[in-house]
Amino acid sequence: MSNASSPARLRVAPSPTGDPHVGTAYMAMFDVAYARRTGGRFVLRIEDTDRARFQADSEAQLLDSLRWLGLDWDEGPEVGGPYGPYRQSERLDTYRPYVEALLDSGAAYRCWCSGERLAQMREEQQSSKSSVTGYDRLCLGMTQQEREKLPGFTPTPVVRLRIPDDVELGWDDLIMGRTSAPRPDDQVILKADGFPTYHLAVVVDDHEMGITHVVRGQEWVSSTPKHLLLYKLLGFEAPRFAHMPLLLDENRKKISKRKSPWAKLTWFREQGYLPEALLNFLALQGYPPIVEADGTEREMFTFDEFVDRFEFSRVDKAGSVFNLKKLDWLNGQYIRSLSREELAARLLPVLVDAGVLPPRPSLGELGRLKAVTALIAPRLVKLVDAPALVRPFFTPDEELPIADDARAALGDDAAAVLDAGIEALEGLPDVEGDIFGDGRGWTPENIEAALRSALVEKMGLKPKVAFGPLRTAVSGAKVSPPLFESMDILGRHSTLTRLRALRASL
Ligand code: GLU
Repeated sequence: MSNASSPARLRVAPSPTGDPHVGTAYMAMFDVAYARRTGGRFVLRIEDTDRARFQADSEAQLLDSLRWLGLDWDEGPEVGGPYGPYRQSERLDTYRPYVEALLDSGAAYRCWCSGERLAQMREEQQSSKSSVTGYDRLCLGMTQQEREKLPGFTPTPVVRLRIPDDVELGWDDLIMGRTSAPRPDDQVILKADGFPTYHLAVVVDDHEMGITHVVRGQEWVSSTPKHLLLYKLLGFEAPRFAHMPLLLDENRKKISKRKSPWAKLTWFREQGYLPEALLNFLALQGYPPIVEADGTEREMFTFDEFVDRFEFSRVDKAGSVFNLKKLDWLNGQYIRSLSREELAARLLPVLVDAGVLPPRPSLGELGRLKAVTALIAPRLVKLVDAPALVRPFFTPDEELPIADDARAALGDDAAAVLDAGIEALEGLPDVEGDIFGDGRGWTPENIEAALRSALVEKMGLKPKVAFGPLRTAVSGAKVSPPLFESMDILGRHSTLTRLRALRASL
């Protein structure tokens, strides 16, 4: 049995059947944590034996998302490794001898029952409220010739595992402790199309790939006795199992891609969450916060800090509800922990996507982006909040749209406010910074002083009333980044052009 001192081998084994599920990243991060903690390896295996549900672009999305999160795999697709190939569809020859061995020993048998017969059997079991459910073993012990004579026959058989009466149903789970699951019926291990089912392939591959710890969601608890039986029948040493709590929706049901958009792993990147915030958030879904020396709890921690103190025994057994508010909070914290340069670099692709900046911005545009980034950072919850705040700084003055709600909110004194504001700012010379040292240059402080004196002191307006129309004039919106800093970044010419344009439109 492995302990923290012997290198463990863990894997995540997603099925490429659609948009990748956030649960895959959740499992992967716990795999990576334990692999790193023991100096072991993290393996990525693609379980693509379900050809009916296979989707070609699913794997690429998954690899891309895991890399985005920094959950790089030591072995797997694209990187290779000593136990490849790492896609099950490329390993069919590996499974065949094991199926033959199970057939030869009588631990498995061929089943020629048609889909219709199985459906009818299930219906009868349900309507008679029979305590016996699952496959009724009609084919057990029969040759094809014998079976052919009976109804519900199909010439392409599947192979079923014969579940013995004394099948072991319990195990010591690393997270759940002593655990057991109901007795299974005779499972299909090889399908009529020649592909193994999940149950056979997962056991053979975990064995062949030297996996020591299987981390997976609690939805697989009912499969574990089937797997333990296969380990025993094939003479393999079973790995340790760690069944993770489920990620739950507000009804405490496992989050599903059908009902919750955030069950899709790609959603988080599209929404502008930072990978480090998502990892931190996912860790908290199943792991306690850090307790500091003074006893206070800290919920914000890096992945390295998570790895350093990782132990299976501390994983929460009960699932936790997906709390997006917590994720938003964490994301804001991480955004504000980045340097201005780093945050601007992360915003760039989002702004290019939104058409705010061209794919190859000029040095001037990048300089302005850095200045704007510092201004908007305190207001960002997600990266996708940025385009609306940044756009006015990259829109030509004559094309700046004024939002309807902002125009509607302009009070009766907007014209007078704009006139006085224009006059006050015209008094500041067009020089960047306070080069005269006399409070006249175009700086946020001087802009503010000039506007306060003209609007608040001379006109006697409340700051909110005074600055609202100016804000709308420069940003086109009701809410904008800090006004005086925005005017500073835009420069004197743009600022005055925008104020005059709104004034002229009243
Ligand atoms: N292919 C399974 C899935 O899609 C893997 C389950 C396991 O980890 O054993 O979740």
